[in-house]
Amino acid sequence: MNDAPVDRGAVGDLPDAELRAALERAVEMAADYLAGVGERPVLPNIEPGAVRAQLPPEPPQDGEPMDRILDDYREIIEPHLTHWNHPRFFSYFAITGSGPGVVAETLAAATNVNSMLWRTSPAAVELEMLVCDWLRRMLSLPEEYVGHINDTASSSTLVALAAARHRAFPGTRTEGWVGIARELGGLPVIYASEQAHSSVDKAALTIGIGTSGVRKIACNDRYEMDPVALAHAVAEDRRAGNHPFAVVATAGTTSTTSVDPIEAVAEVCERERLWLHVDAAYAGSAAICPEVRALMPGLERADSIVLNPHKWLFVPVDCSVLLTRGYDELREAFSLVAEYLRTDEDVVNPMDLGPQLGRRFRSLKLWMVIRSFGVEGLQRRIRFHLELAQKAARALEASENFEVTAPVPFSTICFRMKPAAEGADADTLNRALVEKINRSGQAFLAPTVLDGRVIIRWAIGNLRTRESDIDGTLEQLESLAEELRGAGQESAGGQA
Ligand SMILES: *Cc1c(COP(=O)(O)O)cnc(C)c1O
Repeated sequence: MNDAPVDRGAVGDLPDAELRAALERAVEMAADYLAGVGERPVLPNIEPGAVRAQLPPEPPQDGEPMDRILDDYREIIEPHLTHWNHPRFFSYFAITGSGPGVVAETLAAATNVNSMLWRTSPAAVELEMLVCDWLRRMLSLPEEYVGHINDTASSSTLVALAAARHRAFPGTRTEGWVGIARELGGLPVIYASEQAHSSVDKAALTIGIGTSGVRKIACNDRYEMDPVALAHAVAEDRRAGNHPFAVVATAGTTSTTSVDPIEAVAEVCERERLWLHVDAAYAGSAAICPEVRALMPGLERADSIVLNPHKWLFVPVDCSVLLTRGYDELREAFSLVAEYLRTDEDVVNPMDLGPQLGRRFRSLKLWMVIRSFGVEGLQRRIRFHLELAQKAARALEASENFEVTAPVPFSTICFRMKPAAEGADADTLNRALVEKINRSGQAFLAPTVLDGRVIIRWAIGNLRTRESDIDGTLEQLESLAEELRGAGQESAGGQA
C-alpha cells in the first residue's frame, strides 16, 4: 500500500505515479462494490449524524495520502450510503449506474471539459446533439425535435416552461411579468393533472407564475388527466380574463405511472394555442420499445418532451434529455451572449438553451451506454423489467394478503396489504409493513398516499435485479404480512 508522505512543497497535481496508483485502487474498489452490492443492506442501519461523528470537524492543514483517504471512504462513507445500485432497491424509480456509464463518468471526470460552447468542447457538444438525435429516433419522433441534456427532469421542465412563456409573452424577456402586467390584465396560467410531479409546481414558482398559476386537472379512476376537464378549465380561465399558455401532460406519473391521454390533450393545446410539454421522465426510456411507445399515442405532437436516461436507461445520475420542436423559442428565451463568450462559428452553443453556463460532459455516458448495450439490448433489458413487474403484480393479486391498487402499465406496482378484519387500520398496517421490510435491509420500498389511502410502491428497473429478487421479496412480503396480521389479531383479542 502506498502510504508515502505527501510532498509539502508541491504546487501541482498528484504526481503521475501516485495518481495511477490511486486510480487503480479506485477502479478495484468500484468493481468490488458493484460485484458485491447485492450482499449489503439496501438501507444502512444508522441514525442521523452517525457519519459526521466519525469524521474530524476541522479540514486537514496538510495533504493526506490518497490511500488513507480511500481507506476512510471504504470504512466510513461507502457502507453508509443507500445502495441505489442494489438489485432490491425498489423505491422511487429504480435506476442503474451501469458499467459503461461508470467507465464514461471516469473519463468525463478526467477530461473535465465544460461544454457550454461548441468552441469550449467541440466533441462533447456534437456528441450531445448526436445522442439526443439517437434517442429521438429510438422514440420514433419526427426530425424537427432537437435535444439537449440537462441535469434533471426538474431542470428540463423548467426550461421547457420558460420557452413556453417566451412564446406566449415575449415581452417578459425584457420587461418581466411586472412590466407587462397592465397590458396582460389577467393571470398567466398552466395546467397539469393532479397526479403531475411537483417539479411542475417548482418550475411555476421559478418562472414567476406561482403555484396558484398551476391548475390541477382532475383524473379518471385510472389516474389519467381528464381532457374534458382540461378544456373546461381553459375556457373558464379565458372567460375570467386569464392567460392560459401551457399544459404539462405526464407519461408515467410518479405515484402510479399512469399515462395522460396525450392525443386528446394535444387537441386542446392545438385548438387553444398552448405549449404542450410531456413529462416522461421515468417511462420515456421504456418507449424505445415500440409496444411501450404505443401506450403514448400523440407524443409526437408535443412541443417538448423530457425523459431521464438516468432513470430507466441505465445511465448514471445525472442525465435528463429535453427534446423539443420549440428550439428557436428556447434559444430566444435564454440566449444572452456576453462579449467574451462570442464566437464566429455557426454552431449550437448549449449555454443558449437554459439558465446555466457551465455544463458537465453528460453525453459521453449516454453514448457509451447506448453503444455498449445496443438498442436491441436496451429493449431486451426493459422488457425483462416489464415482465418482472407483471409477475409481481400477478402474485400480489393472487395473494390473500394483498391487493394491487392501480393498473401496471410499466415496471412499477402499487399495492397494499389487506387488513385481516374489516375496520382495522389498513394505513397503519401498510406503513408498518414498509418499515419492517426497509429495516430488514433486504429490500427498499416506499409508501405513498393514493386516494387518501397509504399504498406501497414497488419500482423495478435495476440491471442487477433477477427473478429471484422478485420471488424473495414476494416471500418476505407474505411472511411479514402474516406476522402483522397475527399481531393485529392478538391485540384485537386482548382488547375483547
Ligand atoms: C423522477 C421524475 C421527475 C423528477 O426528476 P428529476 O430528474 O429528479 O428532477 C419528474 N417527473 C416525473 C414523472 C418523474 O418520474
